[in-house]
Amino acid sequence: MDFPIELFRGADTPFYYYDLDLLRRTLDAINTSVPASNFKVHYAMKANANPIILEQINNAGLGIDAVSGGEIKAAVAAGFDPAKIVFAGVGKTDAEILYGLKTGISTFNVESVPELEVISQIAVSLDKTANVAIRVNPNIDAHTHHYITTGLAENKFGINLEQLDSVIERCKELRGVELVGLHFHIGSQITDNTPFAVLCERINSLQNELEAKGVRLKTINVGGGLGIDYDDPDKNPIPDFKSYFEVFSRNLSIRPGQEVHFELGRSVVAQCGSLITKVLYVKKGTAKQFAIVDAGMTDLIRPALYQAYHKIENITSDGLPEKYDVVGPICESSDVFQEDAVLPEVKRGDLLALRSAGAYGEIMASQYNLRRLPGAITK
Ligand SMILES: *Cc1c(COP(=O)(O)O)cnc(C)c1O
Repeated sequence: MDFPIELFRGADTPFYYYDLDLLRRTLDAINTSVPASNFKVHYAMKANANPIILEQINNAGLGIDAVSGGEIKAAVAAGFDPAKIVFAGVGKTDAEILYGLKTGISTFNVESVPELEVISQIAVSLDKTANVAIRVNPNIDAHTHHYITTGLAENKFGINLEQLDSVIERCKELRGVELVGLHFHIGSQITDNTPFAVLCERINSLQNELEAKGVRLKTINVGGGLGIDYDDPDKNPIPDFKSYFEVFSRNLSIRPGQEVHFELGRSVVAQCGSLITKVLYVKKGTAKQFAIVDAGMTDLIRPALYQAYHKIENITSDGLPEKYDVVGPICESSDVFQEDAVLPEVKRGDLLALRSAGAYGEIMASQYNLRRLPGAITK
């Protein structure tokens, strides 16, 4: 990636840099890879809710997958049509449900019977009907980090297959709710399409069973989870959306008139973002040397939280390569971005870029240690 270093010189570090041209090309790739008009892509806004990013995504015509009332509000403020907003999450509050109904969002992805009952009550009190999709736990191992695997049976997310029939019955009994679909989401950072093909097969047999019982669905929501190349972002700046969508058009038995919904987060925004940080000190130990930078886990928590890897580049040096542990200033031992990173000789004042940080980066920043939140620069 070419960084606009001149633009960076006077800026307060650390900050996120977003390459909007790459974002637009990624969105184009999504739109040109979608194989049919009944495939609808919703952006999972929890990956990045920066208004500048949202504006591009709205321009590209995607919908929104929101997981809180705050996200619904931000989506509406960014100009998204409420009819293209779906609302997911295991713990929706009464106020959030009320707000979603008043805003006229398209669908509530429901994760438990008690939640269904509360949605019904609130909808009836407003004299409205809530479209609901039941989040089903298909018990698929997405072979990803255990913190981001969500489709296994023992999980706080979704409803188990064995309980599905009773939940559908409850939907029929309750006023104010209409069952429109099923929702699945098996995990995140999935780089091999096999789990998605397995998901399609589960959905097919489930649909056959449900149809035999007279249940027809308008939408099948297959969630998100498509991974990106953290190791080599310059080789694969745009994920292979074509192959991804093809897995579904080939393997999913889609009924006439049925819509297939996708909720992509990471794959839309990860590669367009980098965290730019300044080197404060180079500290020589006995066996190691440390590059102490002004960004910490408060700015980008993924390495500390999931042992995630972000490629690091020294964008202001062309010295000879040396090994560094790149660490932040936070008073926690887990505040390490990378051990033994090989970088062109690092000096105080150099700028480092932590690549592929557009998803689950800025949005997860905190003020722990009373730090300033990172800013954002776009080009
Ligand atoms: C987080 C999440 C997504 C997006 O996941 P990505 O891996 O970022 O694509 C989609 N749907 C649901 C329900 C989620 O919780």
